[in-house]
Amino acid sequence: MSNKTNDNDAPILCEKVMLNLLLPCVNLIFSMADQTATLLRELPSIDRLLKHARCEALLTRYNREYVIEQCRAVLDQIRGEIRQGHGQTIDLGEDTIIARLDMRIVTDSQPSHRRVVNATGTILHTNLGRALLSQAAIDAMLAVADHPINLEYDLAAGKRGKREETLEKLLTELTGAEAATVVNNNAAAVLLGLNTLAEGKEVIVSRGELIEIGGAFRIPEIMAKSGAVLREVGATNRTHPADYENAIHEKTALLLKVHTSNYKVVGFTAEVTLEELVAIGKKHNLPVMEDLGSGAFIDLSQHGLSKEPIVAERIQAGASVVTFSGDKILGGPQAGLMVGKKDLIDKMNKNHLQRALRCGKLTLAALEATLRRYRQSPNIVEEIPTLRAFTRSVEEIRATGEQLLPKLQVALGAEFQIQLEDSTAQIGSGALPTEELPTVVVSVANPKLTANTIAQKFRTANPPIIGRIKEDRFLLDLRTIFDPLELVPNFNRAEISQ
Ligand SMILES: *Cc1c(COP(=O)(O)O)cnc(C)c1O
Repeated sequence: MSNKTNDNDAPILCEKVMLNLLLPCVNLIFSMADQTATLLRELPSIDRLLKHARCEALLTRYNREYVIEQCRAVLDQIRGEIRQGHGQTIDLGEDTIIARLDMRIVTDSQPSHRRVVNATGTILHTNLGRALLSQAAIDAMLAVADHPINLEYDLAAGKRGKREETLEKLLTELTGAEAATVVNNNAAAVLLGLNTLAEGKEVIVSRGELIEIGGAFRIPEIMAKSGAVLREVGATNRTHPADYENAIHEKTALLLKVHTSNYKVVGFTAEVTLEELVAIGKKHNLPVMEDLGSGAFIDLSQHGLSKEPIVAERIQAGASVVTFSGDKILGGPQAGLMVGKKDLIDKMNKNHLQRALRCGKLTLAALEATLRRYRQSPNIVEEIPTLRAFTRSVEEIRATGEQLLPKLQVALGAEFQIQLEDSTAQIGSGALPTEELPTVVVSVANPKLTANTIAQKFRTANPPIIGRIKEDRFLLDLRTIFDPLELVPNFNRAEISQ
């Protein structure tokens, strides 16, 4: 019996002990809940914040709905912090809340595309926007940006004129072609060319030239979208004139040659030259279109680089149409340039796709100014930033590095080891893929930090500095850096030392 009682007592005792232990905790939880509720209640309302003098100032620059939305977001964020128990450590004064609102709006107003410093050693970096414009091109864009212009207006006749007349004149003068037209980029030029010349028909291309370039441009896919049918001939490494000849039949509309801009096939190879292709085209009365990719106007081999195909020489060799980019080696704005036989270019211009792919006035202005400088400049290599970066001497690059070193050391502090080293840069954007340009880099090391951490820190500078990592070391390539101060990071927004 007594055993039984004891058995029953034990749990009662236990419950009491538990209750005594738990009560303070429960009380604490309740008092915290009280505090949280009080803090939440005390937060100013949106209406109240809007009446604050600094908020009124914001309302002169931003619309009311936007400011209200941002106020709500800041208050939501603060509520979250209070609920997580940080209520005691955050300042809930109205001034501080408005300061947070201010900060949030400033951050939200930053353009998504910001200036960065390209110290990667890839001159035409597709991810960093490719070519930089010349001063002439920038001036031309500004001039047409905020005024009406005679874009499609013939001033002499006082009536509608042609949008691309001057560009066509410049392009034919520079390339020796009969006619020219311009679209938004080279991918669009290839699409327009294929659709105009071969919709519903066959286009013969070598298997060695079925390229894919960055951003998912692929010849087979573009071909399919153009409505033309791809007829691949030859093998990856070797294609012969007979391969084209044997594939030609009544449905064939075009022979296409594609410059293998971002790779090279080496070893046991055979390529049908443009001249051979033109001869086959003549025999069968078929046009030959060449997608040159970069397409240069000047011979870079004068400056110690390998020769990139020159547009005028391809026209001279008999290509019916040549397409190339405005913002690769040419060093102009993003555009697709098409030059060639007048009857074919006329057809392109009559194609409704041309209207869908056309450039805006800013592009046309920048392109015209760039082309005009190619026609007129006594020293084009100095005027086009891309060409200047290609052709700069290693001595000049090293001199920039020597000016930079002491300033960079001061900015980074003594725990960083920096030194100049010889290295190789590249052109990028698929031009001259195997070409290595001699360059000078600054290697930046810190025994406490990995190369990735250092790279990340440089990306937090204002403007962000983008270098490259090679064999676990962080390098800043100086080939594209003309002002050494560009590489002295401004870490105002984030400290580098940890
Ligand atoms: C770069 C390139 C293109 C695409 O040119 P975008 O101007 O980028 O549209 C097409 N074909 C070749 C061979 C290229 O190198």
